[in-house]
Amino acid sequence: MTPTQTGGAEYDARIQRADRLSSPYSAATEFLEFYKHVASFQKLLSANIVASSQFRPSSGFTPGVRDELDLTILLPYFRGYLSTVEEHAPTALAESARQMALLPTESWIANLEAYWKHAGIYDQQVGAFAQFLPRGFLEPYAEFRGGLTPRAPLVGTTRLCPVCGSRPLLGVLRPEGDGGKRFLLCSFCAQEWEFRRILCPTCGEEAEDKLPVYVSEDTPHMRVEACDTCKFYLRTIDLTKDGHAIPLVDDLAATPYSLWAHEQGYMRLQPNLLGT
Ligand SMILES: [Zn+2]
Ligand SMILES: [Zn+2]
Repeated sequence: MTPTQTGGAEYDARIQRADRLSSPYSAATEFLEFYKHVASFQKLLSANIVASSQFRPSSGFTPGVRDELDLTILLPYFRGYLSTVEEHAPTALAESARQMALLPTESWIANLEAYWKHAGIYDQQVGAFAQFLPRGFLEPYAEFRGGLTPRAPLVGTTRLCPVCGSRPLLGVLRPEGDGGKRFLLCSFCAQEWEFRRILCPTCGEEAEDKLPVYVSEDTPHMRVEACDTCKFYLRTIDLTKDGHAIPLVDDLAATPYSLWAHEQGYMRLQPNLLGT
């Protein structure tokens, strides 16, 4: 059920999906156009990560996702990544990439290592847009490591990723029988795990009347699954309504709904790559 490794075809699918969503969801078009450049970079980096790991003498990844951040593979690509962001991002982010490019390598390493250690665990208060630079760069590596990491069988319901311990980014409803089964998608390593449908992943509320679901008529596959007890919400992509959706990408197109949820007084547990 879980995509264990994200290959070039998966990145192509993400880029094509962003392209398709780019006009109907016009409020998100600027982000989606930028995301296509980021995903193209990630595709290239991902291929290099896979290739490098095959030629490592020890073939030696340790089991934990976050145990080791192998910057010898990654750092040579960081400057190219910053250039991509500088060239294609919205103005403020482009400027932060330009500033980062001027800093010495030690600062890059400190920035990447801090993200690697804390992302999805302690970073709730960090401005998500500020986190973009390390997050967009390290995503392919985190997905790669997440896919390699063996996982223990799930016991009961866990609100944090069973592979790396991070908070979920999204819910995903996948067709099963007459309905859909809910999974949570990890905000750090992009692995999925099964999660009960009537249960708040933030506070554990299970009373159905405290867990309203909001769906727009235009986009019935994008759900705001809110909790009136803790006031957090989970965006869930419903693949029973649109089998072509790619949760990571459709979420980026849902920016206007994030603003709407915010106006209703709900917060998002974990922002997406673009900070919405
Ligand atoms: Zn994870
Ligand atoms: Zn709750």
